Amino acid sequence: MKKVLLIGAYFLCSTFAISQTVEDMVNAIEKEGIENSQLEQLAYELMDLNGPRLVGTPEMKSAHDWAVNTYKKWGISAENQQWGTWKGWQRGITHVDMVSPRVASLHATQLAWNPSTSSKGVTASLITLPSFTDSLSFVKWLPNVKGKIVMVSMLQPTGRPDENWEEYATKASFEKMKSERDSLEKIWRQNINNTGYTSRNINAAFEKAGAVGIAQSRWSEGFGANKIFSAGTEKIPAVDISLEDYGMLYRMVEHGADTKIKIVAESKDLGVVPTFNTIATIPGTEFPDEYVILSAHFDSWDGGTGATDNGTGTITMLEAARILKKVYPNPKRTILVGHWGSEEQGLNGSSSFVEDHPEIVAGVQALFNQDNGTGRVVRLSGQGFLHAYDYLGRWLEAVPETYKNEIETTFPGSPGRGGSDYASFVAAGAPAFSLSSLSWDYWNYTWHTNLDTYDKIVFDDVRNNAILTAILTYMACEDPEKTSREKAVLGINPRSGKQGEWPTPRTPQRKGGQD
Ligand SMILES: [Zn+2]
Repeated sequence: MKKVLLIGAYFLCSTFAISQTVEDMVNAIEKEGIENSQLEQLAYELMDLNGPRLVGTPEMKSAHDWAVNTYKKWGISAENQQWGTWKGWQRGITHVDMVSPRVASLHATQLAWNPSTSSKGVTASLITLPSFTDSLSFVKWLPNVKGKIVMVSMLQPTGRPDENWEEYATKASFEKMKSERDSLEKIWRQNINNTGYTSRNINAAFEKAGAVGIAQSRWSEGFGANKIFSAGTEKIPAVDISLEDYGMLYRMVEHGADTKIKIVAESKDLGVVPTFNTIATIPGTEFPDEYVILSAHFDSWDGGTGATDNGTGTITMLEAARILKKVYPNPKRTILVGHWGSEEQGLNGSSSFVEDHPEIVAGVQALFNQDNGTGRVVRLSGQGFLHAYDYLGRWLEAVPETYKNEIETTFPGSPGRGGSDYASFVAAGAPAFSLSSLSWDYWNYTWHTNLDTYDKIVFDDVRNNAILTAILTYMACEDPEKTSREKAVLGINPRSGKQGEWPTPRTPQRKGGQD
């Protein structure tokens, strides 16, 4: 009993001894983050002015240059490090109109990396898919697509999100809608299956059979939200059309109206271009070979401007670095900021960095990654590192309640296997963590959608996260101990029945979109 008390007293004293400096520093970080916040300006420059950051586009390169210049303005050294090459492409004007049986301009976007139409565009009738009993019946039908624009997505039975139904529908009609939709989806999947193709490679089959365009609608289950990914065609235009317009066209075709659309989708093929990570550093004074890494992928899809995926993670790390440079310019350990390229195609920038810089990976004290939207940080997992509780717990103790009171921690947790760039480092055994955000309807409304734009940013939450990140970084830099990398014994995988194994580093794709 006495011993415990004594130890307790010792801890109190030692905590008290360091607490004065820690408290001063935490106050200074908070003050700078609140009174001199640059988040709105950074978001404007990156999202509105620069625009989306699809790998291989000139806008991705200009964003990298912008980041380097922004750091230079703050007196932080930064550079663009090439890790590979990618198919070079630039989006141009997309204009899609219904021209028969009446005229209407449609809400539509060309899909990424899709080749250009001529400036006159392509005008053609639409065709929907009939039901196929097997691949033979598909092959027999396939010549029908010649000269047509093929509608490759299912007609949605409702354009209202489920929350809206839940609020206003009678219980019976909500249930009826859901069960009808379930069976439509099942039939649709089975029908695609019967063709012998998948939804991924069927567009290539239409193209080969002489279709002159592809029209899809990848609804994201929210008002006005569609997911915008890449085209699966080599030469013909592929566009995503809003649920509302797609549904109208689909019904017209099914009713036998002479439905024609005109697609003008101009873009530039820019050959093969180099692709980069932007790396910024504030050198450490005592342990320069040990690193606290601020991490957020820099690239995005380009249906919107990549505001919450991952503009918000990006400006969080920029702002945290700016604050630290101002109030903590001589960190004990080196602060490194990684703005990774091509996360969206499989963590390519960060896994290249891990492959190219084993000495840095060996010196990682901690990495903090943020990449799931604009919300306040509410989850933090130890990623399977046995002693993560000790050091993350120590660092979190210094964070004022307002910035951490919603954070649920899991220790030791299990190692991330993908999802975002921290996983590239975890796989290499480096203590890397995900600052995981509150959703703000991320998955339906902003993740990879046309609606991922500046107006969805919740700046108070991002400010919260920048201050939190800056404090954790300061604490990790100052910690007298290097963090432990000891791995927890992983549990039995319920699916395989086997002992869980630590993920292994992935091989990055360094030549993207090139045949
Ligand atoms: Zn992301």
